[in-house]
Amino acid sequence: MNSCPVCKSKRIKLRYFLKLNESLGNIVDFKILECNNCNLLFSNLLDYPRQMDSIYEEEYFQKYDSSFKNNPKIRSFQKALDIVGQMRYSSGKLLDFGCAEGNFLILAKKRGWQVYGVELSKFASNIAKKRGLTVFNESIHDVKFQDNFFDVITLWDVIEHLSDLEGIFTEFRRILKKDGLLIIRTPNKNSIFHILANLSYALSFKTVTFPIKTMYHPDHLYYFSRQTLNKTLNKNGFKIKKLIMTDQTTMYSKNKFMKLIIWPIRLIGILLGRQHSLLVMAKKNA
Ligand SMILES: [Zn+2]
Repeated sequence: MNSCPVCKSKRIKLRYFLKLNESLGNIVDFKILECNNCNLLFSNLLDYPRQMDSIYEEEYFQKYDSSFKNNPKIRSFQKALDIVGQMRYSSGKLLDFGCAEGNFLILAKKRGWQVYGVELSKFASNIAKKRGLTVFNESIHDVKFQDNFFDVITLWDVIEHLSDLEGIFTEFRRILKKDGLLIIRTPNKNSIFHILANLSYALSFKTVTFPIKTMYHPDHLYYFSRQTLNKTLNKNGFKIKKLIMTDQTTMYSKNKFMKLIIWPIRLIGILLGRQHSLLVMAKKNA
């Protein structure tokens, strides 16, 4: 990786050099790089898009709780639909890009949206299809949606996994209506979790790597702050209309012990305004 994936600057510095826990094809080195021009944090694994696709199979989806009961993910989806409703969008065509098993689509459908999903994992898309949803298990470029088709496109914890940001945003601009809404949730690289992980790494002279490896893992290719997410959207023809910090995410562990540790840290994050995730609502530039 010799240039920034967003601003193309060649002024790149190495932030973290982390060994992979499990080998990923022939890849050994896992580096987190920072662009000196736009400050985006990104991974050297952007150079290996094909190996990255192999990550998203059954095992990946089973790591996360996809049930509806007491699920923070479901609560956050309901809240997002409320916000979309407040922004005067309450029906029309909605695409959930990277829809996994289709939980968000089911909720949106119940509220009257005409819903579509795109999901590259065969395992997850098959579950979504069995639930009666219209889900395409192929690249969005191959689906060939009509121009100006969607009122809303959502990406829930998906943008950080995409190797070709430019190509995806170009397609979103084509298929989204003039006044359509692009909704993106992604981890916040300035969250309390990142701060504590960075601190333990620095104070231990780079010997305590467990927290940092939890924050920076091979399937995430970018680590956005509110500033770099804003720059990335601007560069790709979108303007942020609303940005909300949220600590509800799909990333919470099923492990009870981890839950006990995470809970108070979440609370401190809320108090400091350094929550786990960024949620933005953006529109196309005129
Ligand atoms: Zn840059």
